[in-house]
Amino acid sequence: MKIAIDGPGGAGKSTVSKAVAAKLGIVYVDTGALYRTVGYYVRKMNKNPKSAEEVTPLLDDITIEVKYIDGSQRVYLNGEDLGDKIRTPEMSMYASAVSAIPAVRAFLLDTQKDIARKNSVIMDGRDIGTVILPDAEVKIYLTASAECRAMRRYNELLAKGQTDVRYEDVLAEMNERDTNDSTRAVAPATAAKDAILLDNTDLTFEGTVERIIEIVKEKTEK
Ligand code: C5P
Repeated sequence: MKIAIDGPGGAGKSTVSKAVAAKLGIVYVDTGALYRTVGYYVRKMNKNPKSAEEVTPLLDDITIEVKYIDGSQRVYLNGEDLGDKIRTPEMSMYASAVSAIPAVRAFLLDTQKDIARKNSVIMDGRDIGTVILPDAEVKIYLTASAECRAMRRYNELLAKGQTDVRYEDVLAEMNERDTNDSTRAVAPATAAKDAILLDNTDLTFEGTVERIIEIVKEKTEK
């Protein structure tokens, strides 16, 4: 079974997909973590994440491995588990910048397709239904208003103990990332033609999970 979940940041793709994966007994694949990992390396090497000329040669020095331990995904950059180091607002912006570079997308393509070939998956990202798993049995485009998504992200950062964040900044970064992701030339973040649009602005977390399980049942029982 292949389930593709696309949509903008802060729509709850990862937490919702994790819960759906647990209920269905399949693997949850977070593809954003791969772009974040490339972004992390570019930052570490002090290169400009928007420059294809600067970023492309770095890809030769990177080995990314993805492992699933007790159902949770770990990404290793040249053997190092980066953990939460890729989860900062700065890494979100680096990921978004490097993800517009065609060589980066090509570099990460096989890793993603390979995981889906070997496992039943629910995979979340921006181009899963369109590029990575065009034949997925279920495709969902999960979204919510920008204000709602920014508020969720803001609360998440506060819960992680980051006290120096402002809602206005989170909203501005979210809007900037949405624009970057949806206007880039290669694999822009858009819903696949056959994706089901699910706006969860007014849905709870549990309500969103239930709705996705219903959609999966409807699609797979056909
Ligand atoms: O989902 P997450 O917020 O971790 O993704 C970080 C960034 O990686 C996104 O803003 C997007 O630019 C990029 N991305 C992508 N394609 C994917 C997953 C993430 O371009 N499949």
